[in-house]
Amino acid sequence: MNLGRPNSNDALQTKNRSRNVAPQSGICSRCIDGCKGNCDLFTATFRGRELLYPSPFGEITAGADKDYPVDYSHLNIMGYAMGAEGIEADPDHATFPKVNTETWYGATEKVKMKIPMFTGALGSTDIARKNWEHFAVGAAITGISLVCGENVCGIDPQLKVDKNGKVKDSPELKNRVAQYRRYHEGYGDILVQMNVEDTRLGVAEYALGSLGVETIELKWGQGAKCIGGEIKVNSLDRALELKKRGYIVTPDPEN
Ligand code: SF4
Repeated sequence: MNLGRPNSNDALQTKNRSRNVAPQSGICSRCIDGCKGNCDLFTATFRGRELLYPSPFGEITAGADKDYPVDYSHLNIMGYAMGAEGIEADPDHATFPKVNTETWYGATEKVKMKIPMFTGALGSTDIARKNWEHFAVGAAITGISLVCGENVCGIDPQLKVDKNGKVKDSPELKNRVAQYRRYHEGYGDILVQMNVEDTRLGVAEYALGSLGVETIELKWGQGAKCIGGEIKVNSLDRALELKKRGYIVTPDPEN
């Protein structure tokens, strides 16, 4: 039983022509000569590595749709209505809006949160940049912790570096931190995540020293993606600029 659906996915805007597909490969049971597509296999033959990216790139978020045999929907939380803690055991007082969901984390430096929630890490991708303001403001007023993903400084077109190649000014990261802090009410924190390139670029020193960020997360590799993070850029100039900053840039033979 294949829990995923190989060879066609809405995130890539691909689909099978045939109603029936071989479960392991996702190829149509009648893969026909002259097919006009539009499965992964078909599209990859002429769009190549573009199939690595959910599309339209920079406009969407994409979630995995693997259908696990067990998920949270199979669990029921059976509450009980007997007694109350932290409030009078009285139906007029022990009401739903009075439930306390506050929590904290941190061994020595405690960070309070209104509800136990962290955001996913949104980093250098266009979708994160374009939607940062409402995302950050939402997290701040909700009282949860916001994770700023990696490469934000490295990809920043306005980045200024000092003579040692370390970050001197990154308006993009500065802005992201400021937007979270604008409505911050003492609950939650902004965490800045950094990968190997960020560390080399001195993002930790900049975030902690110049922006007053208090929490950073150092990464040694890509846990989620296996192959390492990749983004698309829209011009050769941008690619060359990033190459100068130490990023691995692979030319696309299609463009
Ligand atoms: S090429 Fe066409 S027929 Fe073959 S698997 Fe893809 S969609 Fe199906």
